[in-house]
Amino acid sequence: MIRKDVVVIGAGAAGLQCGIESAKAGRNTIVLEHNRMIGTKILISGGGRCNFTNINAGPSNYTSSNPHFHKSALSRYTPNDFIDLVEQYKIDYYEKTLGQLFCKNSSREIVALLQSEADKYGLEIQTSTKVGEIKKADDGRYFVLTNQGDYSCESLVIATGGLSFPSRGATDFSYRVAKQFGLKLNPPRPGLVPLVLDFNKNLDYKSLRGISFYAEVYTDNISFKEAVLFTHKGMSGPAILQISNYLNGSKEFHIRLEPDLDLPAFFTKERRSGVLVKNLLSEHLSSRFATEWATYHGFDCSPKQLDDPQFERLLGLLDKWTIAITGDEGYSKAEITLGGVHPDELSSKTMETRKHKGLYIIGEAVDVNGWLGGYNFAWAWASGWAAGQFV
Ligand SMILES: Cc1cc2nc3c(=O)[nH]c(=O)nc-3n(C[C@H](O)[C@H](O)[C@H](O)COP(=O)(O)OP(=O)(O)OC[C@H]3O[C@@H](n4cnc5c(N)ncnc54)[C@H](O)[C@@H]3O)c2cc1C
Repeated sequence: MIRKDVVVIGAGAAGLQCGIESAKAGRNTIVLEHNRMIGTKILISGGGRCNFTNINAGPSNYTSSNPHFHKSALSRYTPNDFIDLVEQYKIDYYEKTLGQLFCKNSSREIVALLQSEADKYGLEIQTSTKVGEIKKADDGRYFVLTNQGDYSCESLVIATGGLSFPSRGATDFSYRVAKQFGLKLNPPRPGLVPLVLDFNKNLDYKSLRGISFYAEVYTDNISFKEAVLFTHKGMSGPAILQISNYLNGSKEFHIRLEPDLDLPAFFTKERRSGVLVKNLLSEHLSSRFATEWATYHGFDCSPKQLDDPQFERLLGLLDKWTIAITGDEGYSKAEITLGGVHPDELSSKTMETRKHKGLYIIGEAVDVNGWLGGYNFAWAWASGWAAGQFV
């Protein structure tokens, strides 16, 4: 049995951040990772350019079963703290949109930064390590049994993330640990995920695959103005991924086409026009989409040919086009996993479980779910940092 002060399971964003902080504080720390490489999700993130944080990240950009829980860590380790580190390493970055910071070159630079920090503070990282069992001894220490040796530690950190992208090594390990230690778990489900449309209740979206448009996508409680993209199963694009976090099992959401152009006002001006609806729409949307949309809704005519109730229906649909879905594309396409360990089981200051001294849970394994746009890494860095101060 190899004795350590701290064992962190999972070498993703949260686990590496926690391990580095712990080693920095002089604790004998090891990070165990079952993949052959560290930071596999960081590598594929942001289309290979890692959207490593968001300068506007604040508590309202997250959903959680306790909306106050994440405030503490996010206020103590802020986006600027990570930006300082990125600048120290002279990594070129830029703001793509809406406060989203991306590497100019490659996500690999973020993984290299973390590896350098680990080396600087003597953090041990062991890859290709399969954790079999975890046990708690009578003296309060934890045992971690692996295919590469067995460890005993005073503090055990679970940083194994959620279920998204199983092809990159995602497992249900954190949820199994939660069950083993009697911690409340909010059922995991895919988040930031493309949606599958109900074929019987929608226009022929398959023929529109690859076409995108700008829209306000909304429910009764929240709205996002970003791009929407047709896929062969339904819709994706930033606005759809964002709304997917808020559907909570609901089978519909709404779209306002080109919200900044006020299409209802535009059509009201064109009330007596003899130009076909699809051609008027094509002034603002791709003509294939405009044609499909107008035909599906029964507007193969000009505004002048519509009676008043039909014209009102057109204005209503431009403002609130309801989309019926059957579900989502699942964990293989989901950027995050919603749900996870209930925040009330953890101290928001230290991320330690309230029931088991020395057991910490951080990152995506916890029921704190960020928007698309760097918010999930912001949470991983902040929660990893918070635990790293106390383990
Ligand atoms: C395609 C994609 C793109 C994304 N892009 C962005 C982005 O640009 N910006 C952003 O903010 N967020 C992005 N995300 C979300 C972000 O990657 C995650 O929220 C974040 O990585 C979570 O960090 P984590 O450390 O909690 O978990 P993870 O990064 O998932 O790390 C968990 C680690 O634990 C390891 N592990 C799992 N089970 C075991 C086990 N049993 N034993 C040992 N090790 C184990 C895994 O292999 C993994 O290395 C993206 C996600 C995906 C899938």
